[in-house]
Amino acid sequence: MRAIRMTAPGVLEQVEVPTPTAGPGEVLLRVGAVGACHSDLHILDAPAGLFPVPMTLGHEIAGTVDQLGPGVTGWSSGDRAAVYGIIGCGRCRACLRGAENACRVVPVGGIGLSRDGGLAEHVVVPASRLLHVGEIDLTQAAPLTDAGLTPYHAVELARDRLRPGTSCVVIGIGGLGHMALQILVATTAVRIIAVDTSVAALDLASRLGAHDVVQAGPDSVDRIRALVGPPPDGADVVLDFVGADPTVTTARQVVATGGQVLLVGLAGGTLPVRPVADEPPTVPLETAVEVPFWGTRAELQEVIALARSGQLQADVQTFPLTEAPEAYEMLRRGEIHGRAVIVP
Ligand code: NAD
Ligand code: ZN
Ligand code: ZN
Repeated sequence: MRAIRMTAPGVLEQVEVPTPTAGPGEVLLRVGAVGACHSDLHILDAPAGLFPVPMTLGHEIAGTVDQLGPGVTGWSSGDRAAVYGIIGCGRCRACLRGAENACRVVPVGGIGLSRDGGLAEHVVVPASRLLHVGEIDLTQAAPLTDAGLTPYHAVELARDRLRPGTSCVVIGIGGLGHMALQILVATTAVRIIAVDTSVAALDLASRLGAHDVVQAGPDSVDRIRALVGPPPDGADVVLDFVGADPTVTTARQVVATGGQVLLVGLAGGTLPVRPVADEPPTVPLETAVEVPFWGTRAELQEVIALARSGQLQADVQTFPLTEAPEAYEMLRRGEIHGRAVIVP
C-alpha cells in the first residue's frame, strides 16, 4: 500500500509498504480521511531520536473497519469509526482515571506519534481506540479527533472561568482554533475575541461567531485590552493555539488577574514568571497557566456528539494522498484555512 512516511528527521515521502495485519485486540482500518495537524510539522522538525523513523505520520484519523484481529468483538467489517489517537499505558494513576493524555508512563504515545499513523491506505489500531461516528462524513470525522478534541479538552479545563459574561481570547484561528470558536459558541455564553495574523483566518472567525477579531501585530495587546479591559482587568481565559513568543507574550499581557492561560500551541515560546517584581506583573497574580495535551476518550465522544448535533463542523480543504507533502508545505506557509484533510 501507499504511505506517507517520515523516513528521516525532516524528510516526508511517499513510499510503498506492506499492508499491515491486525494483531490480537487490533483492527485493520481502511483509512477514509486524515487531518494534517501542525504538530506533524513539529514532529518532522524534531531532533533525531525523539520520534521513531521510518514512521507513517497522521494522528487525526477516521476510516472503515476492514479486518478484525484475534479476540476483537463489538466491531464489524464496514463499520465507520473515528480513532482516539492516544495510547497510554492503561495502568498508571492517570490512565486508570481515563486521562490517558496525562499518562505517566508513555507521555506522548499514540498512533502517528510512536507507531505508524494514518497517512496510508490502511492503518492498524487497537480496537479500544475506535469510536462510532454515526452518519458523519469521514472527512469531517477525522478532524474531530484532534482539531476538535484538543480545544474541547482545553475548554473543559477552563470551564469554571468560562461563565456567562466573561471573555475568552482565542489566539491562532487555524485547524484547532476554528474548532475552538465553535466549541465556545456551542457550550458557553462568553464574549469571544479571535486573534490571528491572517485576515482570512479572522474572516473565518467572524463567520464562526467570534464577537471581535484582532489582527496580530505591534498594537494587538492595546487593541485586545480596549475590548477586555486594561490590567488588572483583562480576559478571563486566553487560549493560545500558537505558543510562540509573540503569542505567549500577548496571552500574559491580556489575561486578567485571577484569569487562566492555556498554552496549547507547541511553537516553543517562553513564559517568564516574575509575578511581583514587575509592574504590571509579568504574569498577573492568581493566574492559572496550563499546558493541555489532546484529550480523553470520553471527551472525544462528546465532541462527536457536538458534531452530530450540527454544532461543530470543520472547515475542510481535501487533498489526495499523493499531495500530502504539498498540503504540509502549504500548512507551513500558512496557506491552509481551517483543516487540510488527506483522503487516501
Ligand atoms: P494551524 O497552522 O492550522 O493554525 C495556526 C494558526 O495560527 C494559523 O491560523 C496562523 O495564521 C496563526 N498564527 C501563526 N502565528 C501567529 C501569531 N504570531 N499570532 C497570531 N496567530 C498566529 O495549526 P494547528 O494544527 O491548529 O495547530 C496549532 C498548534 O497547536 C501547533 O503548535 C500544534 O502543534 C499544536 N497542537 C497542540 C496540541 C496539544 O495537545 N497541545 C494538539 C494539536 C496541536
Ligand atoms: Zn495534532
Ligand atoms: Zn498510563
